Amino acid sequence: MPDELRLVASQIAACTKCDLYKGRENTVPGEGPIDAKIMFVGEGPGQNEDEQGRPFVGAAGKLLTDLLASIGLSRSDVFITNIVKCRPPNNRAPKKAEIEACNTYLIDQIRLINPQIICALGTPAIVTLLGEEYSATKVHGKPTSKNSLTILPMYHPAAALYDGSLKEVLASDFRTLRQLLDARTKLEQPIENGRSSRGRETLEKWI
Ligand code: SF4
Repeated sequence: MPDELRLVASQIAACTKCDLYKGRENTVPGEGPIDAKIMFVGEGPGQNEDEQGRPFVGAAGKLLTDLLASIGLSRSDVFITNIVKCRPPNNRAPKKAEIEACNTYLIDQIRLINPQIICALGTPAIVTLLGEEYSATKVHGKPTSKNSLTILPMYHPAAALYDGSLKEVLASDFRTLRQLLDARTKLEQPIENGRSSRGRETLEKWI
C-alpha cells in the first residue's frame, strides 16, 4: 500500500471517533492502487471483513469480483472501501453520526486516489455521496458528474444475494461503468501527452 494511503489506514486503525470502534476485531480501511480510476464505496464491513481487515471478502465480495471480471477488470484495478471502516454490530446499517464521523477518511482516500469514477454501492453510500433524496432504487445506473468526477450509483452486491433479480440489474449497471470508463479513456488520450486531464479536484468542492 502506498505511504499516503498507509497513513490514512493507520489513522483509521487508531480511531475512536464513534462507538463502532468498541466492537471491531479489525478496521477495514479499504484496498487497491493509489492511481485507481475507479473506486467502489460500500456501506460497511461485515463479519468476514471485520475478521480479515479487508473489504468485500464474503459472498457479496465474490459477486463484486465476478461483476468486475464481466467487464474485463479485476480487483487489483480498483480501490474498494466503505463509508464506515468498522463493522456495525449485527450488520445493522451505519448511523448518520457514524457516517459523518468516518467521512474524513473517505474524503482523504478520494483526494489521494483522485478517481475518475466512484461507484456508490447501496443506498447509504449513495446518500453519503449524493444526498438524502437519492436511493439505489431511484438512481442506480444513472451517472452524475461533479467537476471531473463521475458518481455511478448501484445496488449493493449483497442486495442481489437476497433478491436474485437484482443480479442482472447490477450486471447492466456494470456495463454502464465499462462504457463510462471507455468514454473517459478516449477523452484523455489526446491530452495525456502534454498533461493529465485528471485535475486534482477535491471532494470538498462537491460534497
Ligand atoms: S467507523 Fe470510522 S469514525 Fe467510527 S471508529 Fe471506525 S474508523 Fe473511527
